[in-house]
Amino acid sequence: MIVMKFGGSSLADAARLQKVADLVVRHLPQHPCVVLSALGKTTDALFAAADAAQKGRIDQALAAVATVFQRPSDAAEQLLTDPHLLQCRRALAELHDELLVLLRSIALMRELSPRTRDTIVAHGERIATVLFATYLQQRGLPVALLDARQFVRTDDHFGAANPQRQAMAPLIERHVAPHLRAGRVVVTQGYVGATADGATTTLGRGGSDWSAALLGEALRAGEVQIWTDVEGVLTADPRVVPDAQPIPTLSPAEAAELAAFGAKVLHPATIQPAVDARIPVTVRHTLRPDAAFTTIDPRRPTAPRQAFAALACRGPVTVLTMTSTRMLNAAGYLAKLFAAFGELGISVDLVVTAEVAVACTVEPDAPLERLVQALDGLARVEIAEHRAIVCGIGEGLRGGKGLLERACRALGPIRPELVAFGGNDRNLSFVVREAEMATAMRALHHEFFAATPTELAQEVP
Ligand code: ADP
Ligand code: ASP
Ligand code: MG
Repeated sequence: MIVMKFGGSSLADAARLQKVADLVVRHLPQHPCVVLSALGKTTDALFAAADAAQKGRIDQALAAVATVFQRPSDAAEQLLTDPHLLQCRRALAELHDELLVLLRSIALMRELSPRTRDTIVAHGERIATVLFATYLQQRGLPVALLDARQFVRTDDHFGAANPQRQAMAPLIERHVAPHLRAGRVVVTQGYVGATADGATTTLGRGGSDWSAALLGEALRAGEVQIWTDVEGVLTADPRVVPDAQPIPTLSPAEAAELAAFGAKVLHPATIQPAVDARIPVTVRHTLRPDAAFTTIDPRRPTAPRQAFAALACRGPVTVLTMTSTRMLNAAGYLAKLFAAFGELGISVDLVVTAEVAVACTVEPDAPLERLVQALDGLARVEIAEHRAIVCGIGEGLRGGKGLLERACRALGPIRPELVAFGGNDRNLSFVVREAEMATAMRALHHEFFAATPTELAQEVP
């Protein structure tokens, strides 16, 4: 069997839902388990509705809910006829009523817990699956619409819940596998899970890709297909570098590195379950299914590359430079320093150390005042905000001849404030001012991909 995951943009309107259904029909012989995100920007609207309700602005919250239901209702009217239309309208009305009850209660209490927020935002995926499953049924397919909360078991870290893969395996075997064996197309929600006692959780933004990989792992899928609005993973974020090109193959480590450094096309956690289960992940364009796509295949050995496979960028980030005279010959100093980060739950991305100073990047919303207090007496902290990480990724980069020089030359007048290379063998990162991020990306892209793209990104045999 295969897992087919469709993202929000693939589900934006009736025409796209038709295309998605065509793709499912085309893959019927492979027994698809279909994982859906919410339609378009639904999740953003649901977050906004919850926040408005918490501030007591119930009208605003209800207006956001109205926009959430507009698109699926329109699509249902266009795609469905009775009795399927009636069935879909009823199911959507139930979800609508449930949302209103939740939002009114929040507005009354002026209280919104992460737990309640998850229950609200999970409606996006529930709406999408109701609509799509009904449409597949109308097209005559045997369909099982399954509630992911039955089998995507997570901890209770609401908003960014951690899937419990061991607990999930028997649940998926019990609730999902029999439908596939019986020849039914399974349709279920990405992003959504539940704790052991049934509380709804979500896996964090963009988490549907992760859901797809988790299902793929448990079902021992032949492939996990991530269908989206680009021709696979591109050499850079196309919103930053318009002439970014599709990449035919990426190693799992390259894909994970790219995702971690900001390539939104794949949720960073997607790769691990696929690697563990040795399942290829492909990233494909829903509207151009026969165009180029990317394969990430853990079963294929990865050859080192001569140059970058892709670029990624992430901003804003904050750079902290911590200076101490005590670092000179002070064993255990770094451990003490980073223990403070750990205690405050601040995660560090890049670290560069000198004899008496350490520089690192952290997320812009890290609790820096508390960190500075915690480091009092240990280090003096300088904070530089509005920075960005721009990085090149590829297997075996340390062996690439003259790579660093070429990258620095390409950056021209942009002076990187930090350079990290060699931490692993597949990442060269620069920290630049956030305002320079796009220019730096385009300059690097031009240098490494514009001239002779295929030759430069080629793998060394
Ligand atoms: P979906 O709704 O299908 O999950 P996302 O918006 O989460 O889609 O991810 C796809 C988007 O990721 C693309 O439209 C693109 O703007 C962005 N993106 C960022 N970096 C890359 C990259 N290297 N390759 C392809 N897309 C990228
Ligand atoms: N709908 C969720 C989000 O917008 C999950 C996803 O798209 O993967 O974050
Ligand atoms: Mg996504």
